[in-house]
Amino acid sequence: MDALAIDRRHIWHPYTAMTQPQPMHLVERAEGIWLHLSDGRRMIDAMSSWWCAAYGHAPAPLVAALKAQADRMPHVMFGGLTHHPATELTRKLVALLPDGLDRVFYADSGSVAVEVAVKMAVQAQIAAGNPARTSLATARGGYHGDTWKAMSLCDPDNGMHSHFGAAISAQHFVPMPPVAFNADWTEDPAQNGLGAVEALFARHGPQIAAFIIEPVVQGAGGMRFYHPAYLRGLRALCDQFDILLIFDEIATAFGRTGATFGMEHAGVVPDILCLGKALTGGMMSFAATIASGRVAQMIGQGSPAALMHGPTFMGNPLACAVAGAALDLWGTRDWAAEARRIGAQLQGELAPARDFAGAADLRVLGAIGVIEMRAPLPMARVHAFCAETGVWLRPFGRLLYAMPPLITPPGQVSQIAHAMLTIARGL
Ligand SMILES: *Cc1c(COP(=O)(O)O)cnc(C)c1O
Repeated sequence: MDALAIDRRHIWHPYTAMTQPQPMHLVERAEGIWLHLSDGRRMIDAMSSWWCAAYGHAPAPLVAALKAQADRMPHVMFGGLTHHPATELTRKLVALLPDGLDRVFYADSGSVAVEVAVKMAVQAQIAAGNPARTSLATARGGYHGDTWKAMSLCDPDNGMHSHFGAAISAQHFVPMPPVAFNADWTEDPAQNGLGAVEALFARHGPQIAAFIIEPVVQGAGGMRFYHPAYLRGLRALCDQFDILLIFDEIATAFGRTGATFGMEHAGVVPDILCLGKALTGGMMSFAATIASGRVAQMIGQGSPAALMHGPTFMGNPLACAVAGAALDLWGTRDWAAEARRIGAQLQGELAPARDFAGAADLRVLGAIGVIEMRAPLPMARVHAFCAETGVWLRPFGRLLYAMPPLITPPGQVSQIAHAMLTIARGL
């Protein structure tokens, strides 16, 4: 059997059925913005392989850091042992983060980082004498991962709630933040979405441990951009009702939205922050959950005082070394400015989509361009077209979007915009 035949017969891919294999491209090599296919064709990775490859694929200093660490110590358990890759990464990370966020837990993936954030919040509340505060609140339209608690926090319509029924924990949902990123903010709580949050907190506050949200960009839950002032209002309401605030910046951190972190647009700091994806420059699965000193203190008052989580590969030295090198790379260039450059170009070049009959909306923020269609896109045709045109796009449902690596030069940004317009016009 050749590779594609083995794949078709035996391997599950994200969100696919074994019984109905989807068309597949075989990637031989990934370098910079390019995915090289086994048949000799190449495609620009306009998805940054799902937000990860922010600096392009296989950046030389990251590959070098991985190799050097592999020679020294690929792994060692983190219970009772520590190592320089972890301490150096933490030093750099804490320097980058806003003041007050400095207690770091290293997790294996974004979803696990969300699980840990939830666990921190609930443990902190119980330790602080609020044993009834065990449920969570969030806005509709979000995405927080595929593990059980994370799933329960995803949009109840777009997400997987309907497939798993009562197996999914019931959480509290408010409507999607209604004011768009670029729209005029209104102080009227009935219109800016904060009225619904206040009403929820007034009714169910004593049962809620934390509110979790993706700052400014709701990613895989619908690719929507909302107004930063919502986050300021949310912070104030969480403080008023003793609810912890968790920001899931797994997709939005490291320049993607045109700022270092999405929360920077609002000038608001959460109690707990989740990072992942571009943390390792897209080289490997790794994530971090960072709490404030106050949250760490709250948890420490409890019995047990320990945070009850500890994955086998926690603080994996290879991942820490790569993430440390990625933070060095972060410091070498104004990556948020690169995102704004790409965004400005996408904004201009995607503008014709506004006149397409099939397109319902066009929106761009930082290096994220979204054409929302009126009907779902023909996935198999798009898949074949990507290899023909040399631009890798992976729409979901009615959403055709790109978040190219921040190193993408103008000529290739144009190619991406052109491919998106061709798909949106109808293949
Ligand atoms: C991707 C993502 C996750 C989940 O991360 P995994 O590494 O896929 O588990 C969680 N939250 C957000 C906002 C994400 O974009």
